[in-house]
Amino acid sequence: MLRGSGVARLDAMIVSHQDSDHSGGTLSLLHTMPVMRFASSLPLEHAIVRARIESGETAERCIAGQRWQWDGVDFALLHPVEANYVNPKLKANDLSCVLRVSNPAGSALLTGDIEARTEADLIRRDAAALHANLLVVPHHGSRTSSTSAFIAAVAPDVAVFTPGYRNRFGHPRPEIVARYADAGIRTYRTDYEGALTFAFESGATLAARRERDVDPRYWHDTPRRGELRPLD
Ligand SMILES: [Zn+2]
Repeated sequence: MLRGSGVARLDAMIVSHQDSDHSGGTLSLLHTMPVMRFASSLPLEHAIVRARIESGETAERCIAGQRWQWDGVDFALLHPVEANYVNPKLKANDLSCVLRVSNPAGSALLTGDIEARTEADLIRRDAAALHANLLVVPHHGSRTSSTSAFIAAVAPDVAVFTPGYRNRFGHPRPEIVARYADAGIRTYRTDYEGALTFAFESGATLAARRERDVDPRYWHDTPRRGELRPLD
C-alpha cells in the first residue's frame, strides 16, 4: 500500500504495542524501506527492537510528554508514562502508545488497545489534553474500553472503529457503538467501509474518503451496516 502510494521511506513509525494485529507487519516493513525514527512500547528483548538495534538504528520507547512538530502538524505522546513499563501487572494493551496529532484545523487521538484503567489514568493526568475531533476508538470497540468518562473527555465529532472483518471477538460491541452514537458522535467502521482518509484542512468538515466507495471492485465484499453479525 505504501509503495502504491509512492512512499519510499518513512520519517517515523510508531508501533503501539506488541499484539500481532498492531506489530505483525513491522519487520517486513523495516526490511522494505528506510524508517528514520522508530518508537514503540515493545519490550527491549522483542525481536523487532533487537532487529533495529542490530542494524545500527535506534528504537525509542513511547513516553508521555514527547512532542514534535512537522510541517505545522503537532504530535504529542500521551501514554505510557515511565512507571507503566515497570508495572508487571499492566497488560500489553494498556502499554499502547497513545498519540495525539493536531494542526490548526483539527485533531485526532490514536489510542491503540488501551482499556478502561488507562482511560482513567489519562483523564486523571490531563483530561483537557485528550480532546480531539477524531477518535480512533480504543481496542476496536471492545467492551473493556470506551468508558463514558473517556468519551466525554475526548468529546470527538467522529469515532472510527477498526475491527477485523468478521473477527472472532465480536468487535465492535453493539453497546459500545451505541454509546458513541447516543452521544451524537458520527461513527465509521473500517470493516464495512474500507480504508478511511480524513483531511484536516481549514473550513473542511471531517468527511471520510471511503476506499470502498472510491475504488470498488466486483470481488470486494461490501457489507452494509447491520448485515453482519458477530460469529459468536
Ligand atoms: Zn488490537
